[in-house]
Amino acid sequence: MPIKAQAIRKNSQTKKLSIQYPQIKNFLTSLTTPKKVLAVLAVLFVLYAITDIISVDADAHTNIDFDSVRQSQMVPIPPTPLMSFAESGLIGSEQFINKVVTVKKGQTLSGIFTDLGLSQGLLLKIAHFNEDSKKLVKVMPGNDISFTMNQAGDLVQLRYQSSPFEELVIHNDMDQISTELIQHDQQIRLVSAEGTIQNSLFGAGKAAGLTDNMVMQLANIFSWDIDFVLEIRSGDAFSVIYEKIYKDGEYLTDGKILAASFTNQGTKFEAVYYEHEDGEGSYYAADGRAMKKAFLRAPLNFSYISSNFNPKRLHPVTKRVKAHRGIDYSAPVGTPVYAAGNGRVTRSGYNKYNGNYVFIQHPNGIITKYLHFSKRAVKKGQKVKQGQTIGYVGATGMVTGAHLHYEFIYNGVHRNPRTVSLPKSKPLPDTVMPEFLTYSTPLLSRLSDLKEQLVAMN
Ligand SMILES: [Zn+2]
Repeated sequence: MPIKAQAIRKNSQTKKLSIQYPQIKNFLTSLTTPKKVLAVLAVLFVLYAITDIISVDADAHTNIDFDSVRQSQMVPIPPTPLMSFAESGLIGSEQFINKVVTVKKGQTLSGIFTDLGLSQGLLLKIAHFNEDSKKLVKVMPGNDISFTMNQAGDLVQLRYQSSPFEELVIHNDMDQISTELIQHDQQIRLVSAEGTIQNSLFGAGKAAGLTDNMVMQLANIFSWDIDFVLEIRSGDAFSVIYEKIYKDGEYLTDGKILAASFTNQGTKFEAVYYEHEDGEGSYYAADGRAMKKAFLRAPLNFSYISSNFNPKRLHPVTKRVKAHRGIDYSAPVGTPVYAAGNGRVTRSGYNKYNGNYVFIQHPNGIITKYLHFSKRAVKKGQKVKQGQTIGYVGATGMVTGAHLHYEFIYNGVHRNPRTVSLPKSKPLPDTVMPEFLTYSTPLLSRLSDLKEQLVAMN
């Protein structure tokens, strides 16, 4: 589109020049030789300047980002690229006072207006002016509001970033209010990264150019299949395709992961982000089964292993062989512990062996137990959701150090929560599968290509 528009414009320029050629020729023949030389140089300079402008323009408009999924709408090129005086910032010669207020917790718009010497009447007028101006009322702590006042202290302009891609501008001209919504150009580019773990997942993520937040996002996708606290090994590998969001061409933030794979101790897991008919997106395996399952593999945030699951080990305190029917997650005091699945709290108490402990009853005869909390966060009888914080790692009860003791009991039998086979999630309906596969197959094959590149590099 823009290339075509540019070509048309270029043609019209050339046409204009050819019309002017006879006049230039006549003009030149009427001149004396030294003047002729100067005039020729001047004409050449003008021609050079025009062609230069054209070429710069062409570059600026043909720079299409082919990597974008959702490209911003291409805007037709305006006939005159001149900037208006208002746009260039030259609005009269009056001096204005500019104040940027960062909204603090507990601070109200009313309070901010008072602090700036602006009337409550004006605030009311703005708040009720129209649908756009109402957006100002939704201001949150941490947001910036920029006020421009004249020498008399009257509000002239107010600017507020009502969303990452939308700015509300309220103009006030002698109590005549008008509003303007400036939409910023949003671009989403797809980026890929891959890595192999040597020492830590976060270290590998960093080496691959991922933020810690992106590494957490990645781990969360696979948190129903992989125990990221105890099961990560050197040689585990990941690849990921994710969004980078740009505002007006400048990097703003990372978006979501569209596809990812994680190879844990030789087992490869893959996931694709897919928006089902209701518009709500979540992650699915290549076979269309939801990544989200009834139980998390590790019911807490990352840390490192203190002991493996072992049914016959010496109890660290009593020193006698006692079946250790759970799993110990060594973690700093205060690390939040999550409910591994949805359920109801059947016990929330304290004794000298367990310290602070919580038991949860889940559907299908499954019970999970969590011991040695520094602090409990739920009460007996309370309903809990998967991922909800139920307590904090501590060293209460019979322990040698801070850790979470976690048990998984199925129909009265203790199971190793790290290896117990859990029910598979339901696949997408058959009617959706063709669409899902059309979408997911190229993404997953691109992930595999990344992996191959990595292997080739090593
Ligand atoms: Zn234990």
